Amino acid sequence: MSDHAVKVEPDHTTASSGDKDNVVVTEELVLDTSPAASLSPPVPSCVPSAAGVQGSATPLASKDKARSRSKMGRDDRSTEGKVNTDIGYAISTHVGKHLNRLRGEKVLQIKCAGRVMQGKQETNGNSTHHRPRDRHEPGNKHQRKKKPVTVDTSKAKTSLEALKMSIKQLKWKEFPLGRRAACDIYWHGTSFHDNDHIVSGQVNKFPGMMEMLKKINLSRALRTMHELFPEEYNFYPRSWILPDEYQQFSAQIRGLKDSDAAAHRTFIVKPDSGSQGEGIYLIREASEVRLAAGSQARQAVVQEYVQRPLLIDKLKFDIRLYVLVKALEPLQIYIAKEGLTRFCTEPYQEPNQKNLSHVFMHLTNYSLNVQSDNFVHSDSQSTGSKRTFSSVLYRLASKGVDIKKVWSDVISLVIKTVIALVPELKVHYQADIPPGKPGPTCFQILGFDILLTKNLKPVLLEVNSNPSMRIEHEQEVAPGVFEYVSSPVDEDVKVCVIRDTLRLMDPGLNKHGHPPPAGGGGAAQQGTVITTKAGPPDKAPEEELGDGLPTLCLKQVYPKYTKQFQYLCLVDRIATLFLRFLGIKGNMRLGPTAFRTFI
Ligand code: ADP
Repeated sequence: MSDHAVKVEPDHTTASSGDKDNVVVTEELVLDTSPAASLSPPVPSCVPSAAGVQGSATPLASKDKARSRSKMGRDDRSTEGKVNTDIGYAISTHVGKHLNRLRGEKVLQIKCAGRVMQGKQETNGNSTHHRPRDRHEPGNKHQRKKKPVTVDTSKAKTSLEALKMSIKQLKWKEFPLGRRAACDIYWHGTSFHDNDHIVSGQVNKFPGMMEMLKKINLSRALRTMHELFPEEYNFYPRSWILPDEYQQFSAQIRGLKDSDAAAHRTFIVKPDSGSQGEGIYLIREASEVRLAAGSQARQAVVQEYVQRPLLIDKLKFDIRLYVLVKALEPLQIYIAKEGLTRFCTEPYQEPNQKNLSHVFMHLTNYSLNVQSDNFVHSDSQSTGSKRTFSSVLYRLASKGVDIKKVWSDVISLVIKTVIALVPELKVHYQADIPPGKPGPTCFQILGFDILLTKNLKPVLLEVNSNPSMRIEHEQEVAPGVFEYVSSPVDEDVKVCVIRDTLRLMDPGLNKHGHPPPAGGGGAAQQGTVITTKAGPPDKAPEEELGDGLPTLCLKQVYPKYTKQFQYLCLVDRIATLFLRFLGIKGNMRLGPTAFRTFI
């Protein structure tokens, strides 16, 4: 089946639709989004059998299968108004630079001790990272004398490899077994509570974040915001919480059928605390929901299924973006300029009764697709089943897509999502680290999973509180012999994210005049589009730390764009009032649950 032209039209349902001037995508985008039934390879044997369950809501991925081969393939969760700004430009410039690199990939890659590095050489994790300013700048002399920042990595779990590389690149001091004296930074693999005895320094997890990002709580938080700002919070599929809202869901499906008998909507059911696609299934009838797991009611979210995702090479894919929440008060958000895209391994067809259980067609999880015979491990960033986001953007740009607009919509989505989470997070924070008592400060890297629809609207699938930072994958080097080999694509993206997060959290830098965040970028018009300008990027002071290392791979988006989003912080102000008047009053301490009820 040949590719066919798909007209990319402005999506007036997006949060950014208010500013049509910015939607300039009118060219024909030749991406195949056609059904590809005739190309479908036979379903590999490890796909859960569809026999007898077609349309009967079989989990697309069972726990056992998800765990069988890919011990380390935990890519999803290891235990996930118009204002003139430079954001899109800066990021698409990053894409441009990156693309030059892609074009010259073969030249730039240096094979070294089995590890493919780009533009840098590394031996057994000992980085000889290029530091061009080391020799000439007196500032760096001073830095060499500085006491190294100390990092407790004893609880780092699966992110350890990337963390070790980052610490070495920074010439900081790692404490793999912990330390009796306090460290500057504590790196936890799961949650804030991995170590409850920290009274100073900084921890890489916020209390309550893991709870907040479970599917039900995330849906609730985004629904509250959707009720207040329906136009702004339309990037998350309509969701119902099960079993509580089963009747409403059922009535909704009946209503849809009554209004259009021919329309076949599909819904996706996701267990509340599931990850890596476990227990997920697609349905078309409310009666197909499995309300019980054994004798227990199964907590889940049922959600509208995005039937027409953007396809590349006929395959569905999603985007994993890394987002740093540097602080809650005042809120500081950074987005990594590079992300990952994870591809399905079976050509996509819109859901029908026969393909509902085809896991490799509908779910983009790495941990599932890596089990398919069609999965392609690639050292290149622009081919294979896992690619960099910039390589995908490059591909889209070559088809005429306005990638600055895509980026700006993605950034809006990220900021709005974090704004939705912050109020309840503050209540958690205050409950765990009461003001006046000694405690650490917190920051956290989140993994945003985003789908692009056929007409390029970003849709939020989920946010991972604990995104996989693994940089190796398991490979069968001889029949039955599996070995961990480094994954250049993962390494390139994830090591930069961890290293630059550490740089931003460097206590010395903050003390010694780290440039204060810019307080709002551009005209103070209420609205949400972050538009991009075509001129050269403004030098973003917060991206140059003067530490002799490359420009940060993390881009500050908040408070840089505070003004566009300020009016969405209504619930945040309610949280402040709640904490002031109700949260802590004598002995009566109300926590996050009370806050949710209050809201
Ligand atoms: P998990 O935490 O188990 O990975 P996700 O919410 O990320 O759960 O869903 C798993 C996969 O299912 C996603 O990566 C995506 O490919 C697909 N998916 C999830 N929600 C939707 C949706 N509403 N529409 C289309 N595809 C979806």
